Amino acid sequence: MCIISLIIFASLSFNSNEIFAKSTSPRPQYSAAWKAYKRLTKSPRLRKDRRAWLKVIRAFRKVYLSWPENEVYAPKSLYMMARLYKELYGYSGRKKDLREAIERYEVLFERFPQSPYADDALYHAGVLYLRMGQKEKALSYWKRIILDYEGSDYYRKAARRLGKKKVSKLKAQKRTYGTRTSGDVLANPYAVVKDIRHWSEKDYTRVVIDVSKNTHYHAGFLSENRKKGLPKRLYIDITPARVAKDLEKKIVISGGLLKRVRIAQYDRDTARVVFDLGKTSKTKVFNLEDPFRIVVDAFGEKYPQRPLCLPPKGKLTLAQQLGLCVRRIVVDAGHGGKDPGAIGPTGLREKDVTLKIAHFLKKELEKRLNAEVILTRSTDKYLPLEQRTAIANAKKADLFISIHCNAAPNRRLKGVETYFLNFALDEEAMRVAALENATSRRRIGDIKGILTKIMKNSKVEESKRLSKFIQNGLVTTLKKRYSGISDLGVKQAPFFVLIGARMPAVLTEVSFISNKREERRLRSPKYLEAIAKGIAAGIEEYVKNTELIANLGMGN
Ligand SMILES: [Zn+2]
Repeated sequence: MCIISLIIFASLSFNSNEIFAKSTSPRPQYSAAWKAYKRLTKSPRLRKDRRAWLKVIRAFRKVYLSWPENEVYAPKSLYMMARLYKELYGYSGRKKDLREAIERYEVLFERFPQSPYADDALYHAGVLYLRMGQKEKALSYWKRIILDYEGSDYYRKAARRLGKKKVSKLKAQKRTYGTRTSGDVLANPYAVVKDIRHWSEKDYTRVVIDVSKNTHYHAGFLSENRKKGLPKRLYIDITPARVAKDLEKKIVISGGLLKRVRIAQYDRDTARVVFDLGKTSKTKVFNLEDPFRIVVDAFGEKYPQRPLCLPPKGKLTLAQQLGLCVRRIVVDAGHGGKDPGAIGPTGLREKDVTLKIAHFLKKELEKRLNAEVILTRSTDKYLPLEQRTAIANAKKADLFISIHCNAAPNRRLKGVETYFLNFALDEEAMRVAALENATSRRRIGDIKGILTKIMKNSKVEESKRLSKFIQNGLVTTLKKRYSGISDLGVKQAPFFVLIGARMPAVLTEVSFISNKREERRLRSPKYLEAIAKGIAAGIEEYVKNTELIANLGMGN
């Protein structure tokens, strides 16, 4: 099992020139959308036509998507979309419309907390949550109005909804906020930016911002300012958040991609982290959870183009068989150090098993494929998840193989399965992912939208193909030597240890450490060696069945 993390709230991936691309005014487009809205509300015939509503929503959506950073029109458009969905619900009675409305309100006040529409959005989102029967959620939004929008239009309405008692408690909390100790986390709405960690290699830098708890963030670019001698910059605004007092406020990073990092309290609620960009051709920002952290990847102009490797159409040439697509493999032994992973009925620790397999596998792959093999860890040490994929990216690996042991409450469960990163398709995959991610199934469902964005850059098809070969190699090899080997097949699930990897990446659950018989086998070096041979055989078959199609770049 893995203490892996979960992506939430937001994930951004963009090329550095996108954000400032638009310079014309959004006003004409917005007022056209507004007129369409007026026409709709005045016509009883149109009002009954769902398509007419969606058409107007699309018009506002277009304004928002064309000027997503515009402080005036972006929140206004979001507000109108939410309002339209809410009114549409009045006709349709569909819960889905209600949820769409809530989502627009939420994006509005999270992205534009300074907008005059933010308190409206908080208030109405609360009302809609109440209508959906989620009272706690409603109360939490109204509380935010009391805390952050005193004197606003909706302050009194929110206060009425909450009742006198709750409001005076909140007010007291607000007054004493400044003297609160960090132990009083529950009442403190602010996250703390605690630490900045970074790894750099040629053409690749990963920076991780450690934040004390789940919070919201927004990334954008600041263009070069020659007068002030400022280069182009990437900034991340974290809100509501404070910067830890003892945190180094200026950090110099080697490697020349994200050259300098500055951390400052931008305004009362916002901690801003600014990166001076060097010869950076692409940046990627996403977050992980448990603990919450924001990951920034920067790739240099010379970061190698990943070739497109597909199944061969015809007979393979010798060069192809030598494996142009697979020269360097990163093998990741799951867990380690303070994280033991799953523990078997008689005390065998997953971290020890995976490390032994990793060593066997390295030897096997060097022998069979003459490939260069890099282990994320070669001893019993703790490695955070984001460092594992950082190693694979920094080393420009062609494949990433993460080794784990399965565990289930039902001790009779046994067998071998191999996963690639994608949405879970069945209950069982969902269960394993929830276990491995140390999170609930419901939350995995919640992040669907975010995962969609990330998947765009992942090597899903290649990873799937690789999984099939590895699973087949494992099962065939083990069956030759052992009885009762169950083939649980290739599956897909949102395993977050695979997120952010630039190459085909798989996670294999080699056996159930929670099953008595398989635990006993996992104690035997012979069995572990057979597992390594099986994985290596699978990778070899994959290499033989892969053709270098073209150098198509990094995927986007
Ligand atoms: Zn694990």
